[in-house]
Amino acid sequence: YMHGKLSLVLDFGPHAVCRSQAVSQAVAMNALAGTSRNFRLASRLLGLDSKLEKSLLIPFREIKVECTIPKDDGTLVSYVGFRIQHDNARGPMKGGIRYHPEVDPDEVNALAQLMTWKTAVADIPYGGAKGGIGCSPRELSKSELERLTRVFTQKIHDLIGIHTDVPAPDMGTNAQTMAWILDEYSKFHGHSPAVVTGKPIDLGGSLGREAATGRGVVYATEALLAEYWKAVKGLTFVIQGFGNVGSWVARLIHERGGKVIAVSDVTGAVKNPNGIDIPELLKYKEATGSLKGFSGGDSMDPNELLVHECDVLVPCALGGVINKENAADVKAKFIIEAANHPTDPEADEILSKKGVIMLPDIYANAGGVTVSYFEWVQNIQGFMWDEDKVNKELKRYMTQAFHNIKTMCQTHQCNLRMGAFTLGVNRVARATLLRGWEA
Ligand code: GLU
Repeated sequence: YMHGKLSLVLDFGPHAVCRSQAVSQAVAMNALAGTSRNFRLASRLLGLDSKLEKSLLIPFREIKVECTIPKDDGTLVSYVGFRIQHDNARGPMKGGIRYHPEVDPDEVNALAQLMTWKTAVADIPYGGAKGGIGCSPRELSKSELERLTRVFTQKIHDLIGIHTDVPAPDMGTNAQTMAWILDEYSKFHGHSPAVVTGKPIDLGGSLGREAATGRGVVYATEALLAEYWKAVKGLTFVIQGFGNVGSWVARLIHERGGKVIAVSDVTGAVKNPNGIDIPELLKYKEATGSLKGFSGGDSMDPNELLVHECDVLVPCALGGVINKENAADVKAKFIIEAANHPTDPEADEILSKKGVIMLPDIYANAGGVTVSYFEWVQNIQGFMWDEDKVNKELKRYMTQAFHNIKTMCQTHQCNLRMGAFTLGVNRVARATLLRGWEA
């Protein structure tokens, strides 16, 4: 187990540096259009008033700040940072901060909106937000990353807080990033561990948070497979992404007797039809920082990975990776959306017609934010839970959410994505109506 030990390896998607600006902008636009479209479809199924619909869609507040830092060689460099706070009807806004060259306001907007529905699906008392800085964290030194994080925190410290907006890690950020935010925020507001989650254990982080998104993905997968009288054991899995989420999914699937037959990350892809020895692959990546050259399998084209023959495909990296170019060729029977919006709207339609069962992101990857909630609760209570309790509670929340989604699917005669969206949107709509608009 990794708790207690601070891992400085940052979490990247497989295409972190290969997409052109035009392609990443198109992905971002699609993300916002796709998320808003799913929201509207759900709102129609629920029969929401069009004025309420509009108010739920428009973000509560959009923050855009300039972050200039001196590089280690003394030259100045400027970055643009965002925090989009989408909705707070159900509680403080919540969501990660992403450091990635493709960070774009439309995409952050989509991700913030997804957080609102995600926290509602998980039934934790939060709204939704997301942040990001357009930068290449792999090309920044540790002290440059620290300066950038501190400057960003200085610019937004008045707009976040324990009961307003609580950031967490996302792609390209980790527990160390949260430690810097906590330290900088505390200079202005006094020691406030609950202002961020996903912290190092030594600063009030929760046991089990590091693994939580991946563990939640696996609990969600088990709940889904049980509906089809299947289990992880004996099925074949393909996993895109081997960062925080993907590596934990791979490890836990392997532990349960699932066969992980292909894995990719930004450095390459590896396959083995007999199942990859995941503990060995983890050791190899820890030692070399790469999947390239691993002797326990054959290297493969990362683009081929998503259309590789398997039972279950688990995208754990960037958004928009399953799209109209490759959707028709996907051979998996189940897709578990561990990444946020990995399936674009066109692919969603193609795959639905093919009968592929998709477990939507706002449910499948909700384990991360759920354990973030447990971390926040522990900080506020000043009482630390043991890891067993964290994992048991996580399982309870994930299982309960799955049953609530199934009920919505039956009520509205819809697929799992719409089941999750109607569940989340309905809860936020109810909270909004109860609070009212009287000035
Ligand atoms: N970044 C994660 C997500 O997309 C976690 C957010 C959180 O814990 O607040 O759900």
